[in-house]
Amino acid sequence: MRVTPIACLSDNYAYLLVCPETKEAAIVDPSEPGPVLAALEQHRGRNGDVKVVAILDTHHHPDHVGGNEEVAKALGISRVYGHKSDKGRIPKQSELLEEGASFTIGSLLVRVLHIPGHTLGAVAYVVSREPHVPVVFTGDTMFLGGCGRIFEGDPPMMHTSLQKLAKLDGRTQVYCGHEYTESNLRFAAHVEPSNQAIVQAKARASELRKAGKPTVPATIADELTYNPFLRVTSPEIRKTLGIPESASPADALGAIRKAKDTFK
Ligand SMILES: [Zn+2]
Repeated sequence: MRVTPIACLSDNYAYLLVCPETKEAAIVDPSEPGPVLAALEQHRGRNGDVKVVAILDTHHHPDHVGGNEEVAKALGISRVYGHKSDKGRIPKQSELLEEGASFTIGSLLVRVLHIPGHTLGAVAYVVSREPHVPVVFTGDTMFLGGCGRIFEGDPPMMHTSLQKLAKLDGRTQVYCGHEYTESNLRFAAHVEPSNQAIVQAKARASELRKAGKPTVPATIADELTYNPFLRVTSPEIRKTLGIPESASPADALGAIRKAKDTFK
């Protein structure tokens, strides 16, 4: 399968997901119509025609669904996916998803994980098709090196959601909603200074950004080595932030998130 990141607004990513066999495609989180339609034209110029059959929204925030109406209209898309609890908040939503729902884009199987925390209706889309490596679109729940702010949920909810993502096949490639990787890794290095995986991830991210490229994707296995929100039991992180050994993983996550909220 083919995933093309589309830079939108100041630091958002929409994505074009294409089934290589049927040339059917989906747009994930169309923040705004201009860059999405331009990227589609560019893709068609290079790879031949594709038929966009669906929009997949990870959550209701305007910087993820702002282009829904115009993109749906321009491309004649009638299938717009989002969690059922986001009904009324996702423009043009036609499909009301729950945990474990699945559907196809061409011959790609898309499986839905409900991952509340950033918002209550946040979902991840796990896309698989043997023999390809699976991919996951995590919206603003898991970022490379970080996680989203907890706006509608609470730390235990976010912890459960991140653990659901952490348990995916380690080879799964993570495509998230924003290019926050470098600042996330600065925080990761601050809370876990002896972790060499962070040093390596920082070098990789800075090289990519200098070349004007996105840092996505990274794999779930990579994230487990440096993302502090997946490493809530790390003694070094707990020591840096004064989180007691006895604190539960969810409480530790809450404390790490709070520290990140004010980290400069
Ligand atoms: Zn958001």
